[in-house]
Amino acid sequence: MHFLQTPIEFLKGVGAAKADILKKELGIFTFEDLLFHFPYRHIDRSQVYKTTEINNQLPFIQLKGKISNFRVLGQSRAQRLVAELTDDKGKIELIWFKGIKWIQSSITAGKEYLVFGKPSEFNGYYNIAHPVIDDPEQIENKKYLHIMPFYSITEKMRNRSMDSKALMKLTNTLLTDTRFEIEENLPIEVLQKNNLIPRKQAIEQIHFPENAARLIEAQKRLKFEELFFIQLRLLRYKQNRNQLYNGIKLVTIGENFNTFFHNNLPFELTNAQKRVLKEIRNDVKSGKQMNRLVQGDVGSGKTVVALMSMLMAIDNNYQACMMAPTEILAQQHYATINSLLGMMPLKVELLTGTTSAKKKKEIVEGIKQGSIQILVGTHALIESVVQFKNLGIAIIDEQHRFGVEQRAKLWKKNTAPPHVLIMTATPIPRTLAMTLYGDLDTSVIDELPAGRKEIKTIHRFDENRLAVIGFLRSEISKGRQVYIVYPLIEESEKMDYMNLQNGFDELIKHFQQPQYQIAMVHGKMKPADKDAEMNRFIKGEAQILVATTVIEVGVNVPNASVMVIESAERFGLSQLHQLRGRVGRGAEQSYCILLTGYKLSNESKLRIKTMCNTNNGFEISEVDLNLRGPGQLEGTAQSGVLDLKIADIAKDQYLLTQARETVLKILDSDPNLETEQNLLLKTYLTNYQKKARWGQIS
Ligand code: ADP
Ligand code: MG
Repeated sequence: MHFLQTPIEFLKGVGAAKADILKKELGIFTFEDLLFHFPYRHIDRSQVYKTTEINNQLPFIQLKGKISNFRVLGQSRAQRLVAELTDDKGKIELIWFKGIKWIQSSITAGKEYLVFGKPSEFNGYYNIAHPVIDDPEQIENKKYLHIMPFYSITEKMRNRSMDSKALMKLTNTLLTDTRFEIEENLPIEVLQKNNLIPRKQAIEQIHFPENAARLIEAQKRLKFEELFFIQLRLLRYKQNRNQLYNGIKLVTIGENFNTFFHNNLPFELTNAQKRVLKEIRNDVKSGKQMNRLVQGDVGSGKTVVALMSMLMAIDNNYQACMMAPTEILAQQHYATINSLLGMMPLKVELLTGTTSAKKKKEIVEGIKQGSIQILVGTHALIESVVQFKNLGIAIIDEQHRFGVEQRAKLWKKNTAPPHVLIMTATPIPRTLAMTLYGDLDTSVIDELPAGRKEIKTIHRFDENRLAVIGFLRSEISKGRQVYIVYPLIEESEKMDYMNLQNGFDELIKHFQQPQYQIAMVHGKMKPADKDAEMNRFIKGEAQILVATTVIEVGVNVPNASVMVIESAERFGLSQLHQLRGRVGRGAEQSYCILLTGYKLSNESKLRIKTMCNTNNGFEISEVDLNLRGPGQLEGTAQSGVLDLKIADIAKDQYLLTQARETVLKILDSDPNLETEQNLLLKTYLTNYQKKARWGQIS
């Protein structure tokens, strides 16, 4: 067995009980696992300060002096142990609230110790609570006194005195073992070109760096490695797919596409739309299966691009389908497609969860026979009863609500895999796209249709609500419609519904019938009621729609020109941007009004400010990524690729790009990783696949 694969209980100082904790609490089973439990921060203990040098600028500080004058103060439950540390300049108090007996018995009064901790000020005096205490004579490894690593531990571990320091000692034992060896896993050329230190050195320095510069080098190397292997897997997966499967060849541009383009298209396509259509066209006629992600800001006109791609399939005697995440959206796509196609002799059907059994049977039959060319729907589309005669292309709209598994299901609907086009609802940052959808080709619609007026976004405090209502009245009198959106967060659902209802009742006082009609939709309504209310607004019968975020994605009512967002500070940036995208779809000047309370956190302030400053979804997504980190962004939670140990997609954008480019170059010059120096990459992939398969079995 390889040294690093040794079970953790065999490490000196571990034993059965501690091994058990390490396994359960941190998933550390082997020596290797321990080495890859990286410290989350380091603290510089190379300096020893004097008690008189303590000030508010020093978060952590190390002192050296004699500890004496132990006293236990307070009542039984609120007891604390207090002592004094004295150096040649002065003294400072040390305090413990826990482990009082143990501290008293392990410290010899009057002896000199190194004391490390975070000073806090109380009544003009400094003290340190729960300091780290070391006997200078007993520190056999002087490394600790330079830059000291801190490891994350769990509450349970703390209670069993398996703290960060204990982990530090174990890691040190391992690193100083004469058998310790760690193999390089990147080709030497990659190291040289990217200025990376060897793996062994990086592992040593990430735990016990000699200085700050060494630490940064170690981090860079390990981050690069992590990002590199993700990209290698994704790009290799893509390459495999292309080698294993032939795509359906859609060669002909025929009658349907041409008729639509020349007679039906109600507007001139933007240059960006044309470019993306060309990219799609090149894919589908290439003989390879298309797997393409289309990113475009809200309102950039993704739907028509989707429809024209479907027509390419139909002109070659294939069927097409389009999947949307919600019933409302599926209905809307169905209506849009029908109206865009006009009199063209194509059969389009809608299949959702509410389609009647009879209708569904009909559709299933028509799909099987091939009499239906376009099927629009929700998840119902991927049920196994739906069997296409010959599906040529599948479009997934607003993808982030569809899991990877669902994508795969769709994929299996044919003997030859259909072309797949994924459309995102809002732009996502480039680096995130590279990681989440790194196996897909991407197209960007980076241009809005001409003549759109920029939506004006305004921030108002709740106190100015009356003025806002006056503004709404004047817009409605011009014939426009208005959305008013309330937050609905699961944790405070009850309160939120109350706010929604109160808001509705309040509005009725300002906008009375019969002159005004107000519709209301929220997630708790029966689908039929929701649709009925929604339709009142779509048809223009109601001027105001009060809603929760159910209207967030895709809803298209061009006559609506004002979006009011209540408690806007409670929404995330991408959500605010999606909501704002519901207006500005017609020729009129549109407005987005963000209502908030006076008390705003810095983060909320930044979100609101960003919204007021820009309409550009790509810019917004970058701010969002930096604010929240990738794990919090919509749709990324399920994605294993974001389980990053050390790299950070927001902060390490440059490294990610570098890693991806490096992989691309390698696969380009040595597609099957057969050269001597790439052999270790091939081994890595084989091992990874074995592990992945093993994971599926167990
Ligand atoms: P999204 O990209 O958000 O899905 P849609 O496809 O719903 O956007 O398009 C938004 C609106 O813009 C629709 O009303 C659509 O008809 C219109 N539209 C799309 N492309 C153009 C264009 N090239 N010129 C003018 N209007 C367009
Ligand atoms: Mg859309």
